[in-house]
Amino acid sequence: MSAVVALHDITSRIKASARSAGRDPSSVNLVAVSKTFTAQDIAPLLREGHRHFGENRIQEALEKWPALRNGIDDIVLHMIGPLQTNKVREAVAHFDVIHTVDRPRLAEKLAEEMERQGRRPQCFIQINTGREDQKAGVDPAEADAFIGDCRGKWNLPVEGLMCIPPADEEPSPHFAFLREIGRRNELSHLSMGMSADFETAVAFGATYVRVGSAIFGARGSGTP
Ligand SMILES: *Cc1c(COP(=O)(O)O)cnc(C)c1O
Repeated sequence: MSAVVALHDITSRIKASARSAGRDPSSVNLVAVSKTFTAQDIAPLLREGHRHFGENRIQEALEKWPALRNGIDDIVLHMIGPLQTNKVREAVAHFDVIHTVDRPRLAEKLAEEMERQGRRPQCFIQINTGREDQKAGVDPAEADAFIGDCRGKWNLPVEGLMCIPPADEEPSPHFAFLREIGRRNELSHLSMGMSADFETAVAFGATYVRVGSAIFGARGSGTP
Protein backbone atom coordinates (compact mmCIF):
# COMPACT_ATOMS: atom_id res chain seq x y z
CA MET A 1 0.00 0.00 0.00
CA SER A 2 1.37 3.46 -0.81
CA ALA A 3 1.63 5.96 2.02
CA VAL A 4 -1.14 8.06 0.48
CA VAL A 5 -3.54 5.11 0.27
CA ALA A 6 -2.61 4.12 3.84
CA LEU A 7 -3.19 7.69 5.01
CA HIS A 8 -6.73 7.66 3.63
CA ASP A 9 -7.37 4.24 5.14
CA ILE A 10 -6.17 5.33 8.60
CA THR A 11 -8.17 8.55 8.34
CA SER A 12 -11.38 6.70 7.61
CA ARG A 13 -10.73 4.25 10.45
CA ILE A 14 -10.19 7.18 12.82
CA LYS A 15 -13.46 8.75 11.72
CA ALA A 16 -15.35 5.47 12.13
CA SER A 17 -13.89 4.94 15.59
CA ALA A 18 -14.78 8.50 16.62
CA ARG A 19 -18.35 8.14 15.35
CA SER A 20 -18.91 4.86 17.14
CA ALA A 21 -17.65 6.47 20.35
CA GLY A 22 -20.12 9.32 19.83
CA ARG A 23 -17.35 11.80 19.14
CA ASP A 24 -16.99 14.43 16.46
CA PRO A 25 -14.56 12.88 13.92
CA SER A 26 -13.02 16.29 13.26
CA SER A 27 -11.83 16.43 16.88
CA VAL A 28 -9.13 13.85 16.14
CA ASN A 29 -5.88 14.89 14.43
CA LEU A 30 -3.69 12.37 12.70
CA VAL A 31 0.02 13.02 13.23
CA ALA A 32 1.92 11.14 10.52
CA VAL A 33 5.12 10.01 12.24
CA SER A 34 7.79 10.43 9.58
CA LYS A 35 10.88 9.63 11.66
CA THR A 36 13.46 7.64 9.67
CA PHE A 37 11.58 8.32 6.42
CA THR A 38 12.96 10.63 3.77
CA ALA A 39 11.70 13.85 2.24
CA GLN A 40 10.78 11.81 -0.85
CA ASP A 41 8.61 9.54 1.30
CA ILE A 42 6.92 12.53 2.94
CA ALA A 43 6.33 14.72 -0.14
CA PRO A 44 3.34 12.71 -1.52
CA LEU A 45 1.47 13.22 1.76
CA LEU A 46 2.11 16.96 1.62
CA ARG A 47 0.81 17.04 -1.96
CA GLU A 48 -2.26 15.20 -0.72
CA GLY A 49 -2.84 18.05 1.74
CA HIS A 50 -1.75 16.33 4.93
CA ARG A 51 -0.22 18.79 7.38
CA HIS A 52 0.51 17.19 10.79
CA PHE A 53 3.83 15.34 11.02
CA GLY A 54 5.83 13.93 13.93
CA GLU A 55 9.57 13.53 14.38
CA ASN A 56 11.50 12.23 17.36
CA ARG A 57 14.98 13.61 16.71
CA ILE A 58 15.90 17.26 16.40
CA GLN A 59 18.86 16.69 14.10
CA GLU A 60 16.89 14.55 11.67
CA ALA A 61 14.02 17.04 11.64
CA LEU A 62 16.39 19.92 10.87
CA GLU A 63 17.79 18.00 7.94
CA LYS A 64 14.39 17.34 6.38
CA TRP A 65 11.82 19.92 7.32
CA PRO A 66 13.14 23.38 6.37
CA ALA A 67 13.10 22.30 2.69
CA LEU A 68 9.77 20.46 2.98
CA ARG A 69 8.16 23.49 4.61
CA ASN A 70 9.21 25.69 1.72
CA GLY A 71 6.09 27.27 0.20
CA ILE A 72 3.68 25.52 2.60
CA ASP A 73 2.93 27.73 5.55
CA ASP A 74 0.48 25.58 7.49
CA ILE A 75 2.57 22.51 8.28
CA VAL A 76 2.33 21.53 11.94
CA LEU A 77 5.49 19.78 13.10
CA HIS A 78 5.24 17.72 16.28
CA MET A 79 8.19 16.80 18.48
CA ILE A 80 7.34 13.38 19.90
CA GLY A 81 10.73 12.15 21.12
CA PRO A 82 12.68 12.72 24.34
CA LEU A 83 14.01 16.26 24.43
CA GLN A 84 17.43 17.07 25.86
CA THR A 85 17.82 20.50 27.39
CA ASN A 86 20.69 21.33 25.04
CA LYS A 87 18.31 20.87 22.08
CA VAL A 88 15.57 23.12 23.41
CA ARG A 89 16.64 26.10 21.31
CA GLU A 90 16.18 24.15 18.06
CA ALA A 91 13.00 22.52 19.31
CA VAL A 92 11.37 25.88 20.01
CA ALA A 93 12.58 27.31 16.71
CA HIS A 94 11.46 24.45 14.47
CA PHE A 95 8.54 22.64 16.10
CA ASP A 96 4.94 23.74 16.53
CA VAL A 97 3.93 21.23 19.18
CA ILE A 98 6.14 19.54 21.80
CA HIS A 99 4.62 16.34 23.20
CA THR A 100 7.37 15.38 25.61
CA VAL A 101 7.57 17.96 28.40
CA ASP A 102 8.35 15.81 31.43
CA ARG A 103 10.69 17.47 33.93
CA PRO A 104 11.27 20.79 35.68
CA ARG A 105 14.64 21.53 34.11
CA LEU A 106 13.17 21.04 30.64
CA ALA A 107 10.09 23.13 31.41
CA GLU A 108 12.27 25.94 32.71
CA LYS A 109 14.48 25.83 29.61
CA LEU A 110 11.47 25.83 27.31
CA ALA A 111 10.07 28.87 29.09
CA GLU A 112 13.39 30.68 28.73
CA GLU A 113 13.68 29.91 25.03
CA MET A 114 10.08 30.84 24.26
CA GLU A 115 10.67 34.19 25.92
CA ARG A 116 13.91 34.71 24.00
CA GLN A 117 12.54 33.68 20.60
CA GLY A 118 9.00 35.01 20.95
CA ARG A 119 7.71 31.66 19.68
CA ARG A 120 5.37 29.55 21.78
CA PRO A 121 4.98 25.96 20.54
CA GLN A 122 2.09 24.16 22.20
CA CYS A 123 3.20 21.91 25.03
CA PHE A 124 1.98 18.47 26.03
CA ILE A 125 3.03 16.89 29.30
CA GLN A 126 4.21 13.30 28.88
CA ILE A 127 2.95 11.01 31.63
CA ASN A 128 4.65 7.68 32.35
CA THR A 129 1.33 5.93 32.91
CA GLY A 130 2.97 2.51 33.25
CA ARG A 131 5.59 3.82 35.71
CA GLU A 132 8.29 2.13 33.65
CA ASP A 133 11.81 2.86 34.88
CA GLN A 134 13.30 3.21 31.43
CA LYS A 135 10.54 5.36 30.00
CA ALA A 136 10.35 9.14 29.87
CA GLY A 137 7.40 10.94 31.36
CA VAL A 138 6.22 12.33 34.67
CA ASP A 139 5.28 9.88 37.38
CA PRO A 140 1.47 9.91 37.57
CA ALA A 141 1.62 10.76 41.28
CA GLU A 142 3.48 13.96 40.41
CA ALA A 143 1.43 14.87 37.36
CA ASP A 144 -0.95 17.40 38.90
CA ALA A 145 1.83 19.32 40.65
CA PHE A 146 4.02 19.35 37.55
CA ILE A 147 1.17 20.50 35.31
CA GLY A 148 0.42 23.24 37.83
CA ASP A 149 4.05 24.38 37.79
CA CYS A 150 4.25 24.33 33.98
CA ARG A 151 1.27 26.65 33.86
CA GLY A 152 1.84 28.79 36.93
CA LYS A 153 5.57 28.94 37.50
CA TRP A 154 6.79 28.71 33.89
CA ASN A 155 3.74 30.00 32.03
CA LEU A 156 4.05 27.36 29.32
CA PRO A 157 1.24 26.99 26.78
CA VAL A 158 0.11 23.60 28.12
CA GLU A 159 -2.53 22.14 25.82
CA GLY A 160 -2.67 18.51 26.77
CA LEU A 161 -1.16 15.23 27.88
CA MET A 162 0.72 12.47 26.10
CA CYS A 163 1.46 8.84 26.94
CA ILE A 164 3.13 5.76 25.48
CA PRO A 165 1.65 2.70 27.20
CA PRO A 166 3.95 -0.23 28.02
CA ALA A 167 4.49 -2.28 24.88
CA ASP A 168 3.37 -5.55 26.45
CA GLU A 169 0.17 -4.35 28.10
CA GLU A 170 -3.40 -3.77 27.04
CA PRO A 171 -3.38 -0.01 26.30
CA SER A 172 -6.98 0.85 27.28
CA PRO A 173 -6.38 1.33 31.03
CA HIS A 174 -3.49 3.66 30.20
CA PHE A 175 -5.63 5.69 27.83
CA ALA A 176 -8.40 5.90 30.41
CA PHE A 177 -5.87 6.94 33.06
CA LEU A 178 -4.46 9.70 30.86
CA ARG A 179 -7.96 10.95 30.10
CA GLU A 180 -8.71 11.08 33.82
CA ILE A 181 -5.57 13.12 34.56
CA GLY A 182 -6.57 15.44 31.72
CA ARG A 183 -10.10 15.79 33.01
CA ARG A 184 -9.09 16.78 36.52
CA ASN A 185 -6.55 19.26 35.17
CA GLU A 186 -8.94 20.67 32.57
CA LEU A 187 -6.72 19.65 29.67
CA SER A 188 -8.83 18.65 26.71
CA HIS A 189 -6.09 17.44 24.36
CA LEU A 190 -4.78 13.89 24.60
CA SER A 191 -1.90 12.61 22.47
CA MET A 192 -2.19 8.83 22.54
CA GLY A 193 -2.47 5.90 20.18
CA MET A 194 0.02 4.59 17.61
CA SER A 195 -0.22 2.21 14.63
CA ALA A 196 -1.32 -0.77 16.70
CA ASP A 197 -3.89 0.92 18.92
CA PHE A 198 -5.03 4.27 17.50
CA GLU A 199 -8.67 3.16 17.17
CA THR A 200 -8.77 2.21 20.84
CA ALA A 201 -7.14 5.53 21.72
CA VAL A 202 -9.82 7.41 19.77
CA ALA A 203 -12.51 5.50 21.66
CA PHE A 204 -10.86 6.73 24.88
CA GLY A 205 -10.73 10.37 23.81
CA ALA A 206 -7.48 10.86 21.87
CA THR A 207 -7.37 14.18 20.02
CA TYR A 208 -3.95 13.45 18.49
CA VAL A 209 -2.97 9.98 17.35
CA ARG A 210 0.65 9.41 16.31
CA VAL A 211 0.85 6.89 13.51
CA GLY A 212 4.07 5.93 11.74
CA SER A 213 4.52 2.43 10.38
CA ALA A 214 0.86 1.95 9.45
CA ILE A 215 1.29 4.87 7.03
CA PHE A 216 4.90 4.70 5.84
CA GLY A 217 5.60 0.99 6.28
CA ALA A 218 8.02 -0.75 8.61
CA ARG A 219 11.05 1.18 9.80
CA GLY A 220 14.47 -0.46 9.50
CA SER A 221 15.32 -2.77 12.38
CA GLY A 222 17.19 -1.14 15.22
CA THR A 223 15.61 2.27 14.63
CA PRO A 224 13.35 3.61 17.36
C1 LIG B 1 7.65 6.08 16.57
C2 LIG B 1 6.61 6.68 17.46
C3 LIG B 1 5.25 6.61 17.12
C4 LIG B 1 4.73 5.89 15.89
O1 LIG B 1 4.86 4.51 16.08
P1 LIG B 1 4.19 3.47 15.04
O2 LIG B 1 4.04 2.24 15.83
O3 LIG B 1 5.14 3.36 13.91
O4 LIG B 1 2.89 4.03 14.62
C5 LIG B 1 4.34 7.22 17.95
N1 LIG B 1 4.74 7.88 19.07
C6 LIG B 1 6.03 7.96 19.43
C7 LIG B 1 6.40 8.69 20.67
C8 LIG B 1 7.01 7.36 18.64
O5 LIG B 1 8.29 7.45 19.01
